[in-house]
Amino acid sequence: MRIKHLLPILLSATNVASWGFYGHKTVALLASRYLLPDTAVFVRTYLYKDQTIMDAAVWADRYAHIPLGRYSKTWHYIDAKDDPPRVCEVNYSRDCAVHGSGCIVSALANMTDRIQDDSLPWPARAQALRFILHFLGDIHQPLHTESKLRGGNSIHVKFHHADTNLHTVWDSKIIESARGHPTERNIISFANDLEERIESGLYAEEKDTWRGCLNVSDAEGCGVSWASDSNKLVCEYVLKDEVEGEELSGEYADGAVPLIERMVAMAGYRLAGWLNMIVTGQDGLSGQRVRGNSMEVVSGERVLRDVVDVEIDAQIEEWEKTRMGNFEGIHVQH
Ligand SMILES: [Zn+2]
Repeated sequence: MRIKHLLPILLSATNVASWGFYGHKTVALLASRYLLPDTAVFVRTYLYKDQTIMDAAVWADRYAHIPLGRYSKTWHYIDAKDDPPRVCEVNYSRDCAVHGSGCIVSALANMTDRIQDDSLPWPARAQALRFILHFLGDIHQPLHTESKLRGGNSIHVKFHHADTNLHTVWDSKIIESARGHPTERNIISFANDLEERIESGLYAEEKDTWRGCLNVSDAEGCGVSWASDSNKLVCEYVLKDEVEGEELSGEYADGAVPLIERMVAMAGYRLAGWLNMIVTGQDGLSGQRVRGNSMEVVSGERVLRDVVDVEIDAQIEEWEKTRMGNFEGIHVQH
């Protein structure tokens, strides 16, 4: 792995982030610490030279907003039609089939097939990798597994006295208020803390249960199982008490921080296991691990940009320009 120098992240409007930046980048960075050597080589092969695994993990949210990628909007969540806080339950045939274009579980299954299909051209498999890097993050955000009031987007709340909605609070506000802005330095420090907890701290005992479903030939089954882990929190915490109109930056946020951190850790650990299974047939999560340098970031090798990606990049750039100034974070609305 090559050492990537720490670059300051400009806090422009587009970097005021969501689960998009903090969650997704931390998930990807944490996962990169658990990649088997062959998996790391595979990942580098399917990233561009100027692209880190963290950049690649946030691509899907941008893509969903441009004309070329709009079809993928519903792939970022599964709308569980349960009844929180009384009943929480993800039911694949009830909750995924309603969108003609699929949900996060069907999309994960599809991309897991595509990344393994060596008859597909490089850009298609590279795109499948970027989707997988992203979906493992989103599926661990409780409100990406809930239909009620558009995954909390229609629940009005306050955070540090500012008006916002519950979905945004869970995407970004709570974690940013606990850990500062999602700069590269803070993301590395977040990943380091989570790695420490997995190795010898708070999550050391339970981490083996996180490996329970890493069967890449049953991506649908694993997707539902992971979405159910997240969805359970909707009843247990997210919507346990009435939150409409409430100020959530105090006690509510304090209680949510450990839950969010655990889900981000789980997502990163499972992402590594998933990619290792795809590439090597083993999850690589048991036994002695070769500890990586915590400053190492996996980045790509491909120099020449594919024509499809040139077009996508141009549309993303265009979209970001129009969003400057009133941008409140990247998250795909229900
Ligand atoms: Zn997303």
